[in-house]
Amino acid sequence: MGIDYSAFAIPKPAPRWKDKAKKLADDKKAERECYAQVDRRDSHCCRVCRARVGGVGMLQAVHHHHLVYRSRGGAHDTKNVVSLCVKCHSAVHNGEIRLSGDADSRNHIGVLNGVKLERGHESGWKVEGWR
Ligand SMILES: [Zn+2]
Ligand SMILES: [Zn+2]
Repeated sequence: MGIDYSAFAIPKPAPRWKDKAKKLADDKKAERECYAQVDRRDSHCCRVCRARVGGVGMLQAVHHHHLVYRSRGGAHDTKNVVSLCVKCHSAVHNGEIRLSGDADSRNHIGVLNGVKLERGHESGWKVEGWR
């Protein structure tokens, strides 16, 4: 008969950092998978000006833009993510171009300076004076 140590047992705290790390890893995985699908769908072309973007580095690389911003709860969902070139991406974030709708749909809505963008060829949008 030894001493019963169970009375001294301290319940193990839940490893919360592990949950957090897992959530982050899951999020990264979802992001990677979503971006790969978006790249296939948009064929590495900007959805606004149709420029081909597939290079390396911030200026050449395809930018993945969330229609509903991540900071506002937008998901890593192909419906919510479009490929943009750096120029169109900054125009979107400057408020010159507004994009909304379902990115998987060909009826995706783009607005430039309050004017609804016409659909260009394929999935792109014709932007007046935008080349
Ligand atoms: Zn963006
Ligand atoms: Zn563009």
